[in-house]
Amino acid sequence: MEPFSRRLQESLDRRHRDGLYRQRLTLESSQGPVVRLAGRQYLNFCSNDYLGLAAHPKVIAALRRAAADYGVGSGASHLVCGHSAPHRELEEALAAFTGRPRALLFSSGYAANTGVLGTLLQRGDHVFEDRLNHASLLDGGLHSGARFQRFPHNDLSALQARLEAASGPKLVAVDGVFSMDGDSAPLAELAGLCSAQGAWLMVDDAHGFGVLGARGAGSVEAAGLDTDTVPVLMATLGKALGTAGAFVAGSELLIEGLIQQARNYIYTTAQPPALAAATLASLELLQEESWRREHLAALVKRFRRGAGQLDLPVLPSTSAIQPLMVGEPEHALALSERLREQGMLISAIRPPTVPAGTSRLRVTLTAAHSEGQVDRLLEQLAVCWRGA
Ligand SMILES: *Cc1c(COP(=O)(O)O)cnc(C)c1O
Repeated sequence: MEPFSRRLQESLDRRHRDGLYRQRLTLESSQGPVVRLAGRQYLNFCSNDYLGLAAHPKVIAALRRAAADYGVGSGASHLVCGHSAPHRELEEALAAFTGRPRALLFSSGYAANTGVLGTLLQRGDHVFEDRLNHASLLDGGLHSGARFQRFPHNDLSALQARLEAASGPKLVAVDGVFSMDGDSAPLAELAGLCSAQGAWLMVDDAHGFGVLGARGAGSVEAAGLDTDTVPVLMATLGKALGTAGAFVAGSELLIEGLIQQARNYIYTTAQPPALAAATLASLELLQEESWRREHLAALVKRFRRGAGQLDLPVLPSTSAIQPLMVGEPEHALALSERLREQGMLISAIRPPTVPAGTSRLRVTLTAAHSEGQVDRLLEQLAVCWRGA
């Protein structure tokens, strides 16, 4: 076999052998608490549609309306002629909602994170990242040209030691809510440490935005921080907002710098204008209807109480992400498959997404779930765990 095919085949074989082979599910319905797969209904506990807005009638209507007015494709990158009124309106609304001077849309969170880090950092700088950060933050830091250092999860004294030992421009980047563990970064303490050390703090709030904070503006709002203390805020639109894309919010200077220099912003087609209009409708729902956040918080409490009574290995998370620690990938996969036979969709998360030996079931709750559905989940988990 020639080298590329051989390498691909070997890596596939290795994944099969190690229980790490991944398969895609093909949904035949919209996202929601109940989804259809191969003609069968499943209770869905693995989406990031935390507020249940991905198929909300008002969001769908906004997309339809804007498609009638603006068509489907944006036709070009933002800097050529792909930037349209819905993009602009959404950027202004996101800036106002996060209380920041400006916001900039990106086509994905992955592009936003790698774009920001690639723009801000250069050789001679230092970037510090929590070791459990999302892959896009880690990749952005690794490829930035700056000296890249990971610190142990949420370990402020380890970070402080690394910051003190470094000279030159320093940036600290963390997830607001960690995507596979569901716990939060200690943002207030991190902000204090960063300002004492003259470092910038960047927060990726993919899982906090729309869910946490008194108004739903996320982890940074919940921690009482602002543009001075967290100069770079990034969040995605494909999770709680139920659409797609991402944004970065910060100072006039940061946003103008990104528009001029971020390669992931400049050299890519703008997201469809109708998608921006749909996100604007989601953002309005988020601001007008706080019951979704409240219901979700109540479901999280209910799940944790039930899981505690059943002695299930829940991690210390108060977010919508409620992982159950398993350990070995084959075991996590077997549990996930057993649950699927019972009509429950819960994904097994395995390396390299999580460190070796920490394979888990990642349960996610959404505002669209009912109390009864959470109770069903607990019953099935109890049965499957006993059989394990
Ligand atoms: C999902 C996610 C991203 C990537 O966002 P996409 O829009 O899906 O590319 C970035 N950071 C975190 C923490 C995420 O969970």
